[in-house]
Amino acid sequence: MSKAIRITEVGAPTVMTLIDHHAPSPGPGQLLIRHAAIGVNYIDTYHRSGLYPVPLPSGIGLEAAGTVEAVGAGVDDFAPGDRVAYGSGPIGAYATYNNVAAGRVARLPDTVGFDQAAAIMLKGMTARYLLKETFPVQPGDTVVYHAAAGGVGLVMCQWARDLGVSLIGTASTDEKCDLALSMGATHMINSSRENVVDRVREITGGAGVPVVYDGVGKSTFHISLDCLQPRGLLATFGNASGPVTGVDLGLLTQKGSLYVTRPSLGHYVASDAALAANTADVFDAVARGAINITINQRYGLDEAVRAHEALEGRQTTGASILIP
Ligand code: NDP
Repeated sequence: MSKAIRITEVGAPTVMTLIDHHAPSPGPGQLLIRHAAIGVNYIDTYHRSGLYPVPLPSGIGLEAAGTVEAVGAGVDDFAPGDRVAYGSGPIGAYATYNNVAAGRVARLPDTVGFDQAAAIMLKGMTARYLLKETFPVQPGDTVVYHAAAGGVGLVMCQWARDLGVSLIGTASTDEKCDLALSMGATHMINSSRENVVDRVREITGGAGVPVVYDGVGKSTFHISLDCLQPRGLLATFGNASGPVTGVDLGLLTQKGSLYVTRPSLGHYVASDAALAANTADVFDAVARGAINITINQRYGLDEAVRAHEALEGRQTTGASILIP
């Protein structure tokens, strides 16, 4: 029996329930994909909690890998049996099956397994646009990334190293700091017991950094601004600690004519061509061995509640996946 996670109200992880679910036949231009592995991402918790409103009832999840089961009318570049993955929705990946527009799907290289693909699509695309498009780093740059032992974080550590960039990461435990260092972070700051701004200033000889990539949000917003050099950029791209609200723009001038952007992956891979270019670069980085995909939590589809509790409870490192 095929299954899916459904929410009929927003709230705590327990609003997610597993139901019997028969995916409809693929519409024109769509693929019906039978999932072998499903990616868990922080954004899934925002859809579930109501921070990012979705029409109810709703599925959860934007990322999965598996096999094409059927193709809709007009699809001629995929066939049943093809190994594929997607990382930009549509919502409803926490399920045995999902229908996805063919243009939003990547064909998997033989060398990339389903588990790996489900762990790297969304996180890899995010690291790629942050490092190469939001603030295109140059070899020799030093950047700050918060929660460097997390899912996107461990990809950022490795990709920054590959690009010749020094990454100063933060994490809440010594174990997380050690993990991020082993994956390519140049310096790690234990945010539970060290002053992040002082340490960043010390590491950079007082200069600060040209860019801070901040997926933590509310609790790190002011810290991030204080880590920047004049005319530096804060890319605040997530809300793990809550959303940033009520910003006084005067702060930006006081702290050095700073820039702030609030980017979202969807806008960077809005066209099928941009999506294809991004995923090709991610798979190239994996094939070259520049990025080693780290899956540190595996759950059954029926354990989605536990997966969200662990992610929001700061108990995870690297990527989490669900196996349907
Ligand atoms: P992570 O694996 O990084 O998990 C979040 C981490 O944030 C935790 O492990 C924890 O690390 C840290 N954290 C700090 N404060 C809190 C808090 N109060 N509650 C929970 N966690 C906290 O998640 P992902 O890699 O999936 O995502 C990272 C961020 O990137 C998220 O905010 C996500 O929404 C965002 N994102 C944004 C995208 C975009 O395009 N805008 C795309 C993809 C992700 P520690 O304990 O070490 O502090």
